[in-house]
Amino acid sequence: MPLLFKRIKDIRNHLRDQKCSGNLSVGFVPTMGYLHEGHKALIRESKIQNDITVVSIYVNPTQFGPNEDYERYPRDLNRDMAICEEEGVDIVFAPTDEEMYPHGFTTEVYVKGLSDILEGEFRKGHFKGVATVVLKLFNIIQPDRAYFGEKDYQQLKVIQRMVEDLLLPIEIVPVPIVREPDGLAYSSRNVYLSPEERKSALSIYNSFLLAQEMIEGGEKRAGVIKRAMERFILSHPHVKKIDYIEITDEDLNPKEEVEKGDRILVAVWVGNTRLIDNWKVE
Ligand code: AMP
Repeated sequence: MPLLFKRIKDIRNHLRDQKCSGNLSVGFVPTMGYLHEGHKALIRESKIQNDITVVSIYVNPTQFGPNEDYERYPRDLNRDMAICEEEGVDIVFAPTDEEMYPHGFTTEVYVKGLSDILEGEFRKGHFKGVATVVLKLFNIIQPDRAYFGEKDYQQLKVIQRMVEDLLLPIEIVPVPIVREPDGLAYSSRNVYLSPEERKSALSIYNSFLLAQEMIEGGEKRAGVIKRAMERFILSHPHVKKIDYIEITDEDLNPKEEVEKGDRILVAVWVGNTRLIDNWKVE
């Protein structure tokens, strides 16, 4: 079993001793738990590149809005510990809210601009919560490298910006999206979907294939591609609404003319479940 720490003081002492004992490198995988194949890909990458791999499991309250799914977000530490053992994780850090947010805290990290578009428009304050907790976790673990999935592409960009701006000596390693065999991106939130909703959720991936096909057929106009994706996704039952479909360059600047390497990003409500996904134009 991996070592499990719930207290900041204890994991700090342990990591300090480990690092002193032999110049060991530390890879860090921050998660909200309920681990799946996407998380495993991050862990595997960290295991290849580092001597010690630390996984954090923490459903961070400050990145959820008041009417979001914080309460019902799936949690199962025993299940996650078993997966971490299978994957050869060395250390799991599962702190309490009291540890992460000491009484009277007021300091926040706000990555201006990048935090306000796309997800940020629909989830006000979300990236403030993310950046703040990730910086706290970085300060606790002090990793050499940290692993982030491209599934949350905007989050990856926000964290990269924060690391550059605050001069953190941490290498951010992006990991490509892991999908189920039929194309649905793995997500802890997929457990919310009924079998019927899951079928409709596949329209997200299939809309990327549609867009890719249009692009390969010579269509360059972002507006035309976005409208075709929208029509396609909305034609599926259980799809309640689309928050956004956007096509950007790799730095999240909107594009009119689509090129290879651009990103197509979507957020879609299937029933009461909000799913995000993205696609790198090939
Ligand atoms: P979460 O537990 O959802 O906060 O995700 C923790 C990390 O795993 C984040 O860096 C995510 O981008 C990454 N992740 C989640 N799902 C996937 C996936 N399907 N493929 C790759 N990375 C993922």
